[in-house]
Amino acid sequence: MSSKSNRKKYKSTCSYCGVGCGVEITDLGNGKLQLEGDKEHPSSKGMLCSKGMNLHYTAMDKSDRLLFPEMRFNRNMPLQRVSWDTALDRTAAIFKTFIQKYGPDSVGFYVSGQCLTEEYYVINKLIKGFIGSNNIDTNSRLCMSSAVVGYKLTLGEDSVPVCYDDIELADCFFVTGANPAWCHPIIWRRVEAHKQANPNVKIIVVDPRRTQTASQADLHLQINPGTDITLTNAIGRVMIENQWIDQSFITNNTEGFEAYQTQVFQKTLAESAEICGISIEKIELAAKYIHEAKGFISMWTMGLNQSVIGVNKNLSLIDLHLITGKIGREGNGPFSLTGQPNAMGGREVGGLANMLPAHRDLLNPAHREEVQAFWGGIKISDKAGFSATEMFEALADGRMKAIWVVCTNPLVSMPDVTLVEKALEKAKFVVVQDISNRSDTLKFADVVLPAAAWLEKEGTMTNSERRITYLPKMLDAPGEAKADTEIINLFAQKMGFTEAFNYTSLSEVYDEHCRSTKGTNIDISGLNYEILKEKRSVQWPYPADNQSSKIEPEVFEKLKNEQGTKRLFTDGRFYTYNQKAKIHAVPDENRSESTDENFPLVMTTGRIRDQWHTMTKTGKVNKLNQHIDQPYLEIHPEDALQRNIVDNQIVEVIGRRGKTQVKAKVTTDVKQGLCFMPMHFGKILGSDFGRANNLTNSLYDPRSKEPDFKFTAVEVRAYIKP
Ligand code: SF4
Repeated sequence: MSSKSNRKKYKSTCSYCGVGCGVEITDLGNGKLQLEGDKEHPSSKGMLCSKGMNLHYTAMDKSDRLLFPEMRFNRNMPLQRVSWDTALDRTAAIFKTFIQKYGPDSVGFYVSGQCLTEEYYVINKLIKGFIGSNNIDTNSRLCMSSAVVGYKLTLGEDSVPVCYDDIELADCFFVTGANPAWCHPIIWRRVEAHKQANPNVKIIVVDPRRTQTASQADLHLQINPGTDITLTNAIGRVMIENQWIDQSFITNNTEGFEAYQTQVFQKTLAESAEICGISIEKIELAAKYIHEAKGFISMWTMGLNQSVIGVNKNLSLIDLHLITGKIGREGNGPFSLTGQPNAMGGREVGGLANMLPAHRDLLNPAHREEVQAFWGGIKISDKAGFSATEMFEALADGRMKAIWVVCTNPLVSMPDVTLVEKALEKAKFVVVQDISNRSDTLKFADVVLPAAAWLEKEGTMTNSERRITYLPKMLDAPGEAKADTEIINLFAQKMGFTEAFNYTSLSEVYDEHCRSTKGTNIDISGLNYEILKEKRSVQWPYPADNQSSKIEPEVFEKLKNEQGTKRLFTDGRFYTYNQKAKIHAVPDENRSESTDENFPLVMTTGRIRDQWHTMTKTGKVNKLNQHIDQPYLEIHPEDALQRNIVDNQIVEVIGRRGKTQVKAKVTTDVKQGLCFMPMHFGKILGSDFGRANNLTNSLYDPRSKEPDFKFTAVEVRAYIKP
C-alpha cells in the first residue's frame, strides 16, 4: 500500500443521478479506493446519498467486467474472444453492407444518459454527419424528453431556468410526479435542511402514492393517476379567481393568457376535485401556498414526463409560474430534475433522433446546413430518426437491420420488453458496448465491445442545474477495455471517415463541441478542459465573447469571473421569437390505455432508494441490496381483499402484453385502484420475476415520444405454481 503522502486524490462526479454530486476519490494502491463527498462542489457541498457513498465498490469490483472484444457468426454459437481489429472490421463491413443495400436508416445507435458528453458528441456526429441517418436515440428519451418539449414550447428553449442555490431562497416547493427523497436524495436533503431552519417553508407533494417525499409534505395531494393536468388547471383557476396572478408580468412578458383562462374555467372546482379524488379545500390550499410564497419552485421528474400526455403535463405546470410571474427571480422557477447523470449533456450535443448539436432543431433546414458546414460531412438527412421505442419497433418489423447499444440495458428498462426481445431476436446484427457482463441485452449480441468505466476515462457531464463538471481519468481500464470515444473513433476510421474522426486527444473533441455552440442559447464557446479543471465546474451559457452571445455585456463580465450562469431569464426576456414566454391552454383528458373489467387496476412504476436503473452496478453492492432485496407490488388493502391476497404472498400481475410474478406488499401507501412496482429488476435474478416492463406499453407522447410507463392497465391474482 502506498504511504499516506503518496496517495493520489482525484475529484470527480457521481455517475448515478442527475443531481451530479461531487466526489473525492483517493487511490490507496493495490486496487483499493476510498471515496468521500467533495465539500467544495457547489451542487452537493460534501453530501452523498447511499448510492454515491458506495460508488467506489462498483469501481473496485472488476469481477463482472467485460475484458475483451467478442464475436459470433450466428446466435447458436457462443461468443468468442477476438481482437479489436477483427470486431470492428466485421462491424464496419456489416454496417457498410446494410447501408449500401437498405440505406443508412437501416442502422442505428441506442445510447445512454450515462455516456459522457464527448461520447455522445462523436456518436451523433458519426451517424448524422457521415453515415447519413438520424437514427440515434438514448434512454434519456425515457425520462426527460417531455420536459425538453415543455421548456421549448413555453420558454423557447430547452433550458432549466433555476439552480440548486435557489432552493435556500424558496419558501414553497411543489413536488409533482417525483420522489426526490429516494431518487434525488441530495437535492432533497437541501430542501429538508431549508425547511428545518425555516418552518414556514411549505412543501406540497402531488403523488398517487404516499412516498417518502409525500410523508414529509405539509400538503400531500394524493390524486388519482393521470389527473395531474386537471389539478394544475384547477390551481390556475383558483389563482385567477382570487387575483393571485401577476397581471403586469402576464401582459409584458407572456402571451396566451386569454386562452388559458378560458380553458381552466371549463371545469368547476368541484368537478376538478372529483376527477382528482381530493377535496376542493386541498386545491385551494395549494394555490394559497403558492400565492403566499416569495420563492416558488416546482420540481418534477418521471411522474409527469413518462406519460402519453407528458408534454401537456409539463406545459400546465410551467403555466403556474408564468401566470404568477414566479420565474427568472431568485428562488423561483420550474425545475425539472434530470434522472441520469448526463442526460443534459446528451441534449447539448443533440444526441437524440430529432436534434442537432447545441439544441439545434433537425427539422430546421438552416440548422442542418450550419451543422453540415461545421462537420464537413455529407448532407444531413431531413428525416427525423427513430426514437427509442420506434427504433425497437423498426427492428421488429425489419425496417432496421442493425443496432449498436451503448451503455444501456433495454431488455429491462424499455417499456413492453417482450417487443424489445422480439426486436433484438429479429435484428440481423446487434453490437453491445458495455462495461459489465450483467447486462441482459448481451444475450442478443453478435459483437461485444468492452468499454472503460467511470474513473477509467476522462470527459464531462452536465447535471440538472446546467452545471458542467470535468471527470479525470484515474484508473486504467481492465483487460482490453477502451474508452467509448476511442471505440467510436476507431470504428469511424474503419468506415472510412478518417479525417473527421482523427482526434489526438479528448480535449479536441470537447473543443469542437464547445465551438459548435457559438452564438446559440447554450453557448459554451468560452469553455475548455483547462477552464473546467481550474474552476472545477461551470454552468452554461459560458460564451467566448459577448459579441457572439445573447448575454448583456455587464452580465457577461460577471459570469466569466464566476462559475457561469446561475439563473436564466432574469431580465424577463425569453428565448421565443418575440421574447415572451408562452402560456398554454392545456386540455386535461388522459390518453393512456384504459382499464376495463379484465384489467381494472392501474400499475405505475418507479425507482427504489438504493438501486440504479437495471442494477448492473448497484446490484453488485451488498450494502445497497440490503435496503430492498427483491421486487414487490404495492397494492391497496381493499384491492387485495377483493382478490384474497395477503401481504408477502406471491402474486401474478397480468397485463395486455405480458405478466410477471412478484411478492405482494399490501399497503395504504397506494390509492385504491392503483398498484406500484419498482422498475429495476430484470433477469439478473435468474428469471423475469418482478420485471415490471413485461407489463408496460409502447404508447408514447406524440410530441416528446416519451413512453407511458406510469399508467398500465393490469389485474392481480394469487400465483399458483404450474
Ligand atoms: Fe449520486 Fe445522485 Fe446520490 Fe448525488 S444524489 S450521490 S448524484 S446518486
